[in-house]
Amino acid sequence: MIPIAKTIARIREYVAQARAAGKTVGFVPTMGALHAGHASLIEAAARRCDYVVVSIFVNPTQFGPGEDLEKYPRPFEKDVQVCERCGAHAIFAPSAEEMYPRKNSTWVTVEKLTEPLCGRFRPGHFRGVTTVCTKLFNIVGADVAFFGQKDAQQATVIRRMVADLNMPLEIVVCPTVREPDGLAMSSRNQYLSPQERSQAPVIYRALQRCGEMIKAGEQNAAKITEGMSEVLRQVPALQVEYVSIVDAESLEPCDRVRGQVLVAVAARLGSTRLIDNIRVDTTVK
Ligand code: AMP
Repeated sequence: MIPIAKTIARIREYVAQARAAGKTVGFVPTMGALHAGHASLIEAAARRCDYVVVSIFVNPTQFGPGEDLEKYPRPFEKDVQVCERCGAHAIFAPSAEEMYPRKNSTWVTVEKLTEPLCGRFRPGHFRGVTTVCTKLFNIVGADVAFFGQKDAQQATVIRRMVADLNMPLEIVVCPTVREPDGLAMSSRNQYLSPQERSQAPVIYRALQRCGEMIKAGEQNAAKITEGMSEVLRQVPALQVEYVSIVDAESLEPCDRVRGQVLVAVAARLGSTRLIDNIRVDTTVK
């Protein structure tokens, strides 16, 4: 059985033992309800590092008022099996009290990069993410941490935080894992009704339309986002938050698609918020 640490002291003991045995340490932070996307991160960590820690923690500070903190799925037993099957060596599953024993006074904030895209629709979200990741990085003390491209803005923000604050770990970003119909895997997909589930792949189809337009030589970002919006309108129930083309590093909007760009969509289907993106490198033919 994979060891499960519920306390900070215990996971530090486990990692200290691994370090004493000369092992490199990989870390995969998650909120649980693990799916094939998470599995790919754990497997990547197991290929790269000798000892892999997965954290399972539904972080309250990254949820806004009225968001899904209470109803967020918590299938712990199943998650333990996924971690074991994918080659993890320890699970860190703290309680909210263990992570936040008192009202938090200290926050880590990354400026600018957290303002556009999801930052506009989820005020305070990235502050919660960067703060909990800092705490988790300090607790686990890994050499490498693994994140998914699915949450592209998050990955960019974390990379920047680690660079700006000289945190002694490497950040690896792994590709988005999708369902066969293109829908990006997400713990929140299980909120979708059968009808919504059948409509949700329209987001990926819109991203594909964007890829086709760029391949055909279109560089005008407004024209491309309009082409994408046309696809998204095929599902009238979809409430689009944003369709944006931004520079992949600065996340600033692009008028022309040139170099490395991030094409990102966020939309609500019923009560479920879905995000997806692709990275396009126009210098690669
Ligand atoms: P979460 O449990 O949603 O906080 O996600 C934990 C990590 O898994 C984050 O780094 C996510 O970007 C990553 N992740 C979530 N969904 C996917 C996916 N479909 N493909 C790849 N990585 C993912």
